[in-house]
Amino acid sequence: MAAPSLAAPPLDRRGRPPGVLRLSLTARCNLACPYCLPDDRDPPGLLSTAERVALVTAALGLGVHSLRLTGGEPLLHPQLEELIAALRPLREAGGLREIALTSNGSLLSAARARALRAAGLDRITLSLDGADGASVARMAGLGAAAPSQGDALLARVLAAIEHARAAGFDPAAGQLKLNSVIARGRNDDQLLPLAALARERGLELRLIEFMDVGSRNGWSPEQVLPAAEMVRRIGERWSLEPVGRASHGTASRWRYRDGGGGEGRGAGASHLAVVASISAPFCGDCNRLRITADGVAYTCLFAASGTDLKPVLRADPAGTDSSGLSHALAGLWRQRDDRYSEERRAALADGGGPGSASQQPHAEMAYLGG
Ligand code: SAM
Ligand code: SF4
Repeated sequence: MAAPSLAAPPLDRRGRPPGVLRLSLTARCNLACPYCLPDDRDPPGLLSTAERVALVTAALGLGVHSLRLTGGEPLLHPQLEELIAALRPLREAGGLREIALTSNGSLLSAARARALRAAGLDRITLSLDGADGASVARMAGLGAAAPSQGDALLARVLAAIEHARAAGFDPAAGQLKLNSVIARGRNDDQLLPLAALARERGLELRLIEFMDVGSRNGWSPEQVLPAAEMVRRIGERWSLEPVGRASHGTASRWRYRDGGGGEGRGAGASHLAVVASISAPFCGDCNRLRITADGVAYTCLFAASGTDLKPVLRADPAGTDSSGLSHALAGLWRQRDDRYSEERRAALADGGGPGSASQQPHAEMAYLGG
């Protein structure tokens, strides 16, 4: 089913076109990272694979070109490979430029990595917030008294990196990256160890400022280590030069002047990236649309509420007429006015709390998918 393509992509109220769709497949997770705190249960009314394909098809008609599958933990979704395979024709037809996945890596076996690649997955980003067992245990919510569980989780994620590489995800081509959330006083001592770990393995490391997503992770501005400080600390050890932030990208990239580590494993570690959503918001060219596992569309990571697309999706169970869905998405996008991170920055600069940027509680991270 091809989506009716709009003559020109709809622009939101700030003149921004859509570009990236982040599709959450489940709100559940096998970990409990304290900065995320998933519910460990899914909402009712989960979408089917066919409904997700219909959504992606409609989003492509709107001008979306990239898809990221996320969660919760997307590897918990039993039809993950089936969904990717079902999306493959859209990829091959050219409208969909890439299908990417973000995962905590703990469930990525060699067989699963091969199956994902064979199904048509283009990129994997694995999340890891420490380079030793105690830090990993703390950041994954395994408890302070669980360093051996942290060791085991670290070993699983390091193995997952190698499984992904062996399955054909090439770090040098940007197909395999590492995400780390850094919170001041919790794991900022892991900055250099994580950078070293990524360099040794030829991976680009993406350092993410701890964000005030949701309303139960106890976020406060003092816990944010600004991206500039992360870059400064790593740059004191390995000299860095700025590359810049791609248009519509979330990450500012830096190049290691020594070319990075990665001898024998490709040159993918020549870059470091930082996502400065708190200290240097990028709302101005944000092109991301988010859809939850139960089909609710959010036009901002920090939004309090979304729009349930199920009534439109389920009004046409045969999936033969996609115009309703296309119009619903286009209407939603045209109404979009979000710039929460910029408002938060202004509120913090005025001495107000982040709450003065939005009084309503935000949706939780594992539900939204990051
Ligand atoms: N479970 C998968 C994982 O952890 O990679 C995918 C879902 S997770 C919600 C997506 C990304 O959001 C992860 O890289 C995670 O570290 C990041 N994240 C979660 N909560 C965050 C927060 N409060 N601030 C910044 N990044 C966060
Ligand atoms: Fe799970 Fe990812 Fe949230 Fe951690 S960040 S609890 S791995 S969904």
